[in-house]
Amino acid sequence: MGDSADFDEEIKSVCPFCGVGCQVSMKVKDGKIKHVEGINGPANEGRLCVKGRFGFDYINHPHRLTKPLIRREDAPEKALNVDPENWQEFFREATWEEALDKAAHGLVDLRSYYGGSAVAGFGSAKCTNEEAYLFQKFIRQGFGHNNVDHCTRLCHASSVAALMENVGSGAVTATFNEIENADLAIVIGANPTENHPVAATYFKQFTKRGGQLIVMDPRGQGLKRHATHMLQFRPGTDVALLNAIMNVIVEEKLYDRNYIEGFTEGFFEFRDHIRAFTPERMADLCGIEAEVIRDVARRFADANRAMIFWGMGVSQHIHGTDNARCLISLALLCGHVGRPGTGLHPLRGQNNVQGASDAGLIPQFLPDYQSVKDPEVRELFRHIWRGTEISPEPGLTVVEIMDRVYRGEIKGMYILGENPAMSDPDVEHARKALGQLDHLVVQDIFLTETAMFADVILPASAFAEKSGTVTNTNRQVQVARQAVQPPGDAREDWAVLVEMARRVGLDWDYDDPREVFDEMKMSMRSLHHITWKRLEAESAVTYPTTGPDDPGQPVVFGDGFPRRAGRAKFTPARLTPPAETPDDAFPMILTTGRQLEHWHTGSMTRRATVLDAVEPEANCSLHPSTLRKLGVAPGGMVRLTTRRGTVEVMAREDRAVSPDMVFLPFAYVEAAANILTNPALDPFGKIPEFKFSAVRVEAVDTA
Ligand code: SF4
Repeated sequence: MGDSADFDEEIKSVCPFCGVGCQVSMKVKDGKIKHVEGINGPANEGRLCVKGRFGFDYINHPHRLTKPLIRREDAPEKALNVDPENWQEFFREATWEEALDKAAHGLVDLRSYYGGSAVAGFGSAKCTNEEAYLFQKFIRQGFGHNNVDHCTRLCHASSVAALMENVGSGAVTATFNEIENADLAIVIGANPTENHPVAATYFKQFTKRGGQLIVMDPRGQGLKRHATHMLQFRPGTDVALLNAIMNVIVEEKLYDRNYIEGFTEGFFEFRDHIRAFTPERMADLCGIEAEVIRDVARRFADANRAMIFWGMGVSQHIHGTDNARCLISLALLCGHVGRPGTGLHPLRGQNNVQGASDAGLIPQFLPDYQSVKDPEVRELFRHIWRGTEISPEPGLTVVEIMDRVYRGEIKGMYILGENPAMSDPDVEHARKALGQLDHLVVQDIFLTETAMFADVILPASAFAEKSGTVTNTNRQVQVARQAVQPPGDAREDWAVLVEMARRVGLDWDYDDPREVFDEMKMSMRSLHHITWKRLEAESAVTYPTTGPDDPGQPVVFGDGFPRRAGRAKFTPARLTPPAETPDDAFPMILTTGRQLEHWHTGSMTRRATVLDAVEPEANCSLHPSTLRKLGVAPGGMVRLTTRRGTVEVMAREDRAVSPDMVFLPFAYVEAAANILTNPALDPFGKIPEFKFSAVRVEAVDTA
């Protein structure tokens, strides 16, 4: 704890990293954050993980962009070749006026010459709700199409697709804190102790008071110690396992007949479909004994109150939507939705990925998931946006946009806070595409791998340098507050967007994020009864809320679903193998993910002193028997090769991975996991199969 003499000011805000949305107090002295403490937010009750407590000093890193930059006329060819400490060979400093004019006019020129569809945009879940709203409006209003997306496409797009289809809402049905009221919880394809560490503390407390925790994951993990059951199933066989569990519930008539009759549709077709998936038939495929499957099924059905949590292990497959459909069906079968201690909860990744999606930063939906195909919705926005005609065509998604760039059909991009040169699958393809753009505007706080390809770089603000609202995985809307000034000439993102909009011909006149929030309320029912003033006073409001005095509903859909006749739907899921399976040339399975200390593409956490000191080096995890077979000692180097490329990386011994698997974190540019990953997409959520690639692992001869 800091002594109050150590700081001049204390500013309350929200951690910028994961979707848990922990509230923090930033202690500021002489215009700098000295330390950060957890405060009593609804999602963290004073707790913080290592990232929230020690991961903030990246905002003072010498690599921060402090002036607008313009690519030099005589710069070398665009490539991943800029040293952040020695960028002058590639870029020159410019005034804001010059940089904004060049950035905006480049986009306008492309619009004039080729039409609006020659320009696309990636916003970011690191931005506030107001910034996300402005960014999607910028593309839709300024360029007449919906080709705007963000990193939700790479994390939970398939979960949202399944939830929208079967439940009628893309958000969680219950907060993770509801586990306090549950008797049983399934955590599948998620590693909360590393990726949602504060949420994991609630899960551990739940087991301490006797809750049954069933963890299902192809990789071992920290929650295993606390679990009553650990089902380490074969990668890519989620549907087989979940359908087998549901087969038991159906065949033994353990389902909740009244709930199914009262609140669902499609049960009989689903029941007929699920009969083929007996535990005996699925056991070999998923690697879990039939008796274990039966035991888990009976416990889930017997529980009075049960919750299901999932992460990107479920969503990042070409069958990610089917995986999520199974989880929804499982909950519906047993009526584990809509009551305290029950619910469906995809653990959202970035701190504002829920809010950015709610704000319409996705190609098929306007704010609040209102379809661009719906003429009434388009008319509403035409009215709010002063006559703007909204295109009725759903836009392209992240990977589709990058493909069009590669093919030369999209010629200009505005990228705000995203880093596709690290985050896209088959990233060499994305890097080539970025290098081909006629005009690339990047707005960010560092010279990221993506910014290296830019024509204009606009220096932006970090979380502690701006104010706005953010929405966490629990649907809790919270206020992030400015604690310090952006460095040098860097500006708040919303203000830069307003300047860009004016220069592409839009009549935007916002003077403050509060005005943007007020406009958002005109079209977003989720924000009914939520005002900025209320958020300031109450620290958080959970949507939906029924009135100005209602703090919001932690559990929703107790009296029906926002679908036809108020009924949720069973959608049968069939077995789909991974897009590529191991063979003689690539005999092992590569899976990728995060580590506790590093965040996404590493642009922030690798510049945070403590976090980088704890995890300074790119690494992969291999089973001890695999290392022995390779003749590599722990700490030695291995070469990983897939059909897309090769990386060399230090190997760690890790019993959590099976002998046929390698786990590679994706935060390290020097061993970029996405050089290896497969860009094959789930047909519904359009999410790439990051969690399964066929790979060859070899020892690197360092003699
Ligand atoms: Fe930040 Fe997530 Fe850690 Fe909370 S759990 S401190 S939101 S990274």
